[in-house]
Amino acid sequence: MSDLLRSYEEETSTCTRCPLAATRTQVVFGSGDANAELMFVGEAPGFHEDRNGVPFVGQAGKLLETLLNGIGLSRSDVYIANVLKCRPPGNRDPQPEEIEACESHLFHQIELIRPTLVATLGNFATKLLSGKPTGITRVHGVPQQVTLGGNEVTLYPLYHPAAALYTRSMLSVLEEDFRRIPELLGPTTVVPEPAEPEPELEPERPLEPAVQLGLF
Ligand code: URA
Repeated sequence: MSDLLRSYEEETSTCTRCPLAATRTQVVFGSGDANAELMFVGEAPGFHEDRNGVPFVGQAGKLLETLLNGIGLSRSDVYIANVLKCRPPGNRDPQPEEIEACESHLFHQIELIRPTLVATLGNFATKLLSGKPTGITRVHGVPQQVTLGGNEVTLYPLYHPAAALYTRSMLSVLEEDFRRIPELLGPTTVVPEPAEPEPELEPERPLEPAVQLGLF
């Protein structure tokens, strides 16, 4: 599956479906484990992502990493992508035409990765992947069952880390919502340790003749 994802990334790197192709440095496809159970979907690349070609490498990315570490995960355990693969100039909001032009890239990514849990970060990803107009303030922290890329997926809307960087109360809510992720991922498969060899038993000694013990 990762080979298919890699070749799709290559195909996407020359995308000219929308005018953002003219102003981007490069397409920011996504990064992480191509077989991840957990996928995050943000909004769009910012300045640093556009330069580096990797999503969430700026301040919001640092917070995302801290939150991941807090639940015992790291970036390499998950897959991270965005609704838009190219940076909107000046980090303005994605436009409806840009989302429409780009969305099939994201849907195909989800189809290839086949995550069981998709955490949407902020309004744009949440509205696109839930297919509903309800905003993040109302739906954050509430898992929903959806079909994405032909698979049943749990969608888990979260506040965008960039928003949480500016509003303390939002950060607390984001931290709290994040703590439910392990439970939503379900029990991890624990590979049992190989059984310890049985300790060698001392050969059983015949009981002392009762008479010698003086019991009778
Ligand atoms: N960086 C990203 O890659 N996506 C966002 O939504 C914000 C910052």
